Amino acid sequence: MDIREIIFKIQHDHVTVIQEEVPVQFDNRQQTPLGFRWRDRHYEVLKPILVSNKPGGHPCYLVLTDGGVFNLTMVRDQEAAVFCKSRWVLKYRVNDDSAGDGSGLSKGQGKTAFQLREGGGRLVPLPLMNIVHFHGHLCPELAVGYRAGLIAQNELGLTRDNARSFFILAENMSSAIDALQCMTGCTVGNQSFYAYDLGKHVYYFGRFDSDPEPRETLRVALINPVVDIGPARDIEKKIVAGQATVSEADEYHRAIDKAVAEILDIPDESLFARSKVYLRPPRLNDGLEYDKCSGCGEVVAARKAVPGGNGLLCRVCVAKVL
Ligand SMILES: [Zn+2]
Ligand SMILES: [Zn+2]
Repeated sequence: MDIREIIFKIQHDHVTVIQEEVPVQFDNRQQTPLGFRWRDRHYEVLKPILVSNKPGGHPCYLVLTDGGVFNLTMVRDQEAAVFCKSRWVLKYRVNDDSAGDGSGLSKGQGKTAFQLREGGGRLVPLPLMNIVHFHGHLCPELAVGYRAGLIAQNELGLTRDNARSFFILAENMSSAIDALQCMTGCTVGNQSFYAYDLGKHVYYFGRFDSDPEPRETLRVALINPVVDIGPARDIEKKIVAGQATVSEADEYHRAIDKAVAEILDIPDESLFARSKVYLRPPRLNDGLEYDKCSGCGEVVAARKAVPGGNGLLCRVCVAKVL
């Protein structure tokens, strides 16, 4: 079962409700369950598929095990207290039609999958969770950046391990560029990420080359307005100003959830136009040499300073002088 199939099944109630407390081996460092024991059998977690991320809510994992896909949720005895007794509940198993479901358990009544979305926060692929932690929240732009990054991973094999040989150019400075930097390892700091704010979700992925001639670069452009949350954007201003009502804030979060869910579900072709263009790879700056500005006495990269004063001036001092 691939991830789309699993989500489809959860949304359409192809699950077997279990709702039993189970002992779980949990890796605190990685924050993932390693395995659990259920009905006299040990299930080894092969990989976590999804984590739901409701702040302050119950950690909820969808895990692929050697015995199928399960929802494993941590329940705390006292809702509000972080340091209180907690237990793991095996909520349901996603039915695997190909293997046949020999559990003999009653089919779910549609509640479990619904609760997972409504009460347990939205469903988020695990790699996106790491990006959310880095960025601070989940928003439509972050999801767009994540989807664009997946294309670069699939088409060019761009991963954090080989980021050194790639560069990315973005035509916006939105949350999307945090997603791309986080998942590819191409960052502004290591001079492999360049952002120009033209307000467009257009991204170029290319390889560095000592040859200065233009070379083939993958261009990915958002063509679907799904990133726009429409009238809910006005509520955002109210939230920032501290003037939104609870129901307005709810409406806003529902709009965000809906846009994010759509962006994560839409096939690549409906989201992006892809093409090949020829670009000259950017040239890396040589090692940094520093000097002291003769105006303010502060340290400045020599290549960014200009002659003036009693030696070199930083641009800020130049602006003051002029
Ligand atoms: Zn954001
Ligand atoms: Zn200065």
